Amino acid sequence: MRPGSSGAVADGSLEVIVLGAAPSAPQPDGQGSGLLVRSRGTSLLLDIGVGVVPQLGRIMDPYALSAILVTHFHADHYLDLVSYRYGLPWIGVTGERVPVLLPPGGRQQLEGLAAAICEGADFFSRALDLCEYDPAASVEVGDLAVSFVPSQHYVDAWGVVVAGPGGHPRVVVSSDTGPNPALVEASRDADLLVAEATLEHAAEDVQPRGHLTADEAVAIGREAGARRVLLTHLPTARRPALRAAYTGIRPRVTVARPGLRITLTARSPHPAASAGRAVRPALPDDGGAASGERP
Ligand SMILES: [Zn+2]
Ligand SMILES: [Zn+2]
Repeated sequence: MRPGSSGAVADGSLEVIVLGAAPSAPQPDGQGSGLLVRSRGTSLLLDIGVGVVPQLGRIMDPYALSAILVTHFHADHYLDLVSYRYGLPWIGVTGERVPVLLPPGGRQQLEGLAAAICEGADFFSRALDLCEYDPAASVEVGDLAVSFVPSQHYVDAWGVVVAGPGGHPRVVVSSDTGPNPALVEASRDADLLVAEATLEHAAEDVQPRGHLTADEAVAIGREAGARRVLLTHLPTARRPALRAAYTGIRPRVTVARPGLRITLTARSPHPAASAGRAVRPALPDDGGAASGERP
């Protein structure tokens, strides 16, 4: 299989696959953040936290990705770039390199990471196509349009809006954030809001806030009119209680676990998807979609 072409995804649809849904503390079944968003022609990995690369390998050739995007430089969102790099040729890397979209300052950050693991400054740049994104602009990854939402976090961080071919379906991914009006605005009528729900109680957080409770995450989805909310970035032991707490409400709430797949199907016809790793400026549209899920 050459899954960079993600042949199972229908024209105009998006498939969202959870690769990791835990926060930074180690725990059973607790990979760091990793979410694969696929159209028929494109496979975009959002965050590459600890343990995400082996999970990705169960689904597709990790090196057939269209691009990797890092939302911020906490370990549970980018540290598996190290193991990803070790899977590439050691000397004289040639051929097409996977683009890695980094927050501003990302190249220097990765040079520092390379130094910390006793590798050369070009350890990552020699094998990967490192690009620093402008959070105020949009980027096209294959047939997906990607734009950014400033997070409320302890370090600079950005949520991500991914729109399929023709502007929909539209997925909004919160990254790590506290209460965040910009996230509400970005999530208006989204087909899926993937929202972090790190905290059991808001009082656990510091000021200014940097994470959400599940109730806060669901409230953002409801206020924004998102069709569905996927809760992620939470301790695995809390999954059963959260599933029970949000059964039967609107918007529909799903609790993330590695391997979970959600298919978002466009309600109106779209132009044929185009394949490739092209990464270039773009402006996404808005639109509606229906959704389905398989385990
Ligand atoms: Zn995190
Ligand atoms: Zn973080």
